[in-house]
Amino acid sequence: LVVSIIGGGIVGASIAWRLAQRGVQVVIHEAGKLGGEASWAGAGMLAPGGEVASLEGWRGMALASARMYPDFVRELRSESGQGIDYRACGGLELAMGDAEAAELDARAARQAGIGIGSEPARHPSAAHARFYPGDAIVDPRDVMAALRVALSRRGVRIEEGARIADPANLSADVVVVAAGAWSGELGVGPPTEPVRGHLIGFRLPPGTLGPILRHHHTYLLQRSSGFLIAGTSEERVGFQREVDPPTASDIHRRAAGLLPLLGLLQPDDVWTGFRPATASLEPVIGRRGPRTWAAYGHHRNGILLAPATAEAVAGEITASSGMG
Ligand SMILES: Cc1cc2nc3c(=O)[nH]c(=O)nc-3n(C[C@H](O)[C@H](O)[C@H](O)COP(=O)(O)OP(=O)(O)OC[C@H]3O[C@@H](n4cnc5c(N)ncnc54)[C@H](O)[C@@H]3O)c2cc1C
Repeated sequence: LVVSIIGGGIVGASIAWRLAQRGVQVVIHEAGKLGGEASWAGAGMLAPGGEVASLEGWRGMALASARMYPDFVRELRSESGQGIDYRACGGLELAMGDAEAAELDARAARQAGIGIGSEPARHPSAAHARFYPGDAIVDPRDVMAALRVALSRRGVRIEEGARIADPANLSADVVVVAAGAWSGELGVGPPTEPVRGHLIGFRLPPGTLGPILRHHHTYLLQRSSGFLIAGTSEERVGFQREVDPPTASDIHRRAAGLLPLLGLLQPDDVWTGFRPATASLEPVIGRRGPRTWAAYGHHRNGILLAPATAEAVAGEITASSGMG
């Protein structure tokens, strides 16, 4: 069985890894650099506490994927010999007034019903807070570097600078479209739109921040190296990569509201990335034709959803070919 994967982000590369482990011959066709797009830009929050309050649509998969993450990272570290910055640091969600506090507690009650635990907490910037011990963070650039090594060791061919215009031109037995925000152009399923996000980063001493700190769409997290990331924005401006200084300043202002120290500093880095979104904001995962699979549209949670997506797609492909 030969499988061609179009797109070498965290979704395509994780599927390739799981297929190669099952003995499948895999080629990745990547228009740019492996892990050079959204999977380079993403913050790497693995935070059902902040994102999930029901089991509808992708959310059930997100919970399953969050549970898979520790083993996914352990196995990938051991196969690649590479370090991966993954930390089960928890997340602290802030409420700024009585109405927000009531809303946060009501959401926490719904979350408890689907197995997402949290407890009341305190924070100097907020009227009320809740701590989510199950939330974690990972550096997606580490994951991509480790996947590159693990894939090479398993004989996966990685063709970079290879943009595929039409999946029908590939001769493989199975073609998987995992081209992120560009997937819609390949015509195997619903259209996609890029939802641009800005992030800003500060070099700080490790340990400046404990858990992820969140208030609505503003969040802070810190890598083990000390690099602290603040986000974010959601902009529908097409594939425009340029940093928009007012958007970055707005994130900076909101971030300083959560951690006043940041108001005294200038960001050391600012970058953007394209979240892959379908109109429904649901990912498209599964078989789309006799030899075509799709795995795209993971929007805000593709880093989180990658392990479960890879298991599902690799499992289906091998089962359908009698290898499973
Ligand atoms: C600012 C920001 C913050 C985020 N934070 C988080 C977070 O905290 N947690 C989380 O879980 N997710 C987060 N995300 C979302 C996450 O980054 C994405 O959902 C995920 O990276 C999508 O992975 P992917 O492999 O589908 O897409 P990508 O990483 O974009 O990979 C798709 C690849 O396909 C290639 N490609 C495109 N067209 C073709 C073609 N025709 N032929 C060949 N190759 C092609 C591209 O070059 C690209 O490398 C964030 C995203 C952004 C932008």
